[in-house]
Amino acid sequence: MMTQIDLVFPGDEVAVEEEYLAAEGTYAEDGVVYASQVGVLQLDDKDCVARVLSHNPPNVLKEGDIVYAVVADIRNTMATADVVAKEGVDRSLGGETYATIHVSKISQKYTDDVSKELRKGDYIRAKVTGVKPSLQLTTKDDHLGAIRSLCSKCKTELVRKGDGLYCPECKQSSSRKLADDYGDVRID
Ligand SMILES: [Zn+2]
Repeated sequence: MMTQIDLVFPGDEVAVEEEYLAAEGTYAEDGVVYASQVGVLQLDDKDCVARVLSHNPPNVLKEGDIVYAVVADIRNTMATADVVAKEGVDRSLGGETYATIHVSKISQKYTDDVSKELRKGDYIRAKVTGVKPSLQLTTKDDHLGAIRSLCSKCKTELVRKGDGLYCPECKQSSSRKLADDYGDVRID
């Protein structure tokens, strides 16, 4: 239920918190709700929230984007992954989300064995290096690589041990290309 339609700009005062709480595209400061992006103001009387809905183009990935993905398969010369989110963006992704990571783009160190760096089901942070003819990713950076992994046998969350991972249940180590903040990232 909308009471008002208006184009607003970042920083514009759009409501007061006594009447509407900040939601998508807005933020509150000292009881006043402001727009955080350009868009159409929606004052929702049902949920008592103020939203600013942007008219951005679909959320299609481009070169240089940092993304979160789940490793889908390990092959001889590459891993495949499903991109699930773009860093800093809540909106769902449009366009292609099936991506490949070539063995030469996995680690700063030389590797010729994909299965020693990534495993099926790993959550990874990666960077888009190309979008044509297909989506290509790299994890070749300290901050890129696995951020959360489960044991392939018992599904326990693996913990960091040295340069690799360790299953506290199976008492087994496995190698991995880890992001520098492995285990610190919460995925809900
Ligand atoms: Zn285990």
